[in-house]
Amino acid sequence: MEDCIFCKIINKEIPSEAVYEDDYVLCIKDINPMAPVHLLVLTKKHICCANVIDETNSLYAAKAFEAVAKIAKQAGIDKNGYRVVNNCGDDGGQTVKHLHFHILGGKKLPIEMA
Ligand code: 5GP
Ligand code: ZN
Repeated sequence: MEDCIFCKIINKEIPSEAVYEDDYVLCIKDINPMAPVHLLVLTKKHICCANVIDETNSLYAAKAFEAVAKIAKQAGIDKNGYRVVNNCGDDGGQTVKHLHFHILGGKKLPIEMA
């Protein structure tokens, strides 16, 4: 996707701090961290959002969650726990329209529904 910032990061056209990569996902540090650990797991296929996950592309979502467990161990947050967040669409607060999962941890996170 031409104007997608996360596709550009995946294609190394824009620099990022990568912490994990495999055939399906790239995990980078969030540029504006909201917690001591704030990582983004980007699917290597351009999928706009969780709303279009179906049988043709769900492998990428599954692989993203496989990666989450590995990345959490690597980041040292697996023992105390962490939050995985997906914002979907405008009401969900999604600002980059490329499927990604936030991994937030490194402190006791406040419980918020909105
Ligand atoms: P969303 O609001 O779509 O769920 O999350 C987008 C996230 O991407 C935000 O937390 C924002 O800080 C992060 N972000 C936006 N642009 C960049 C960028 O160029 N590099 C990195 N590393 N993170 C970005
Ligand atoms: Zn994209």
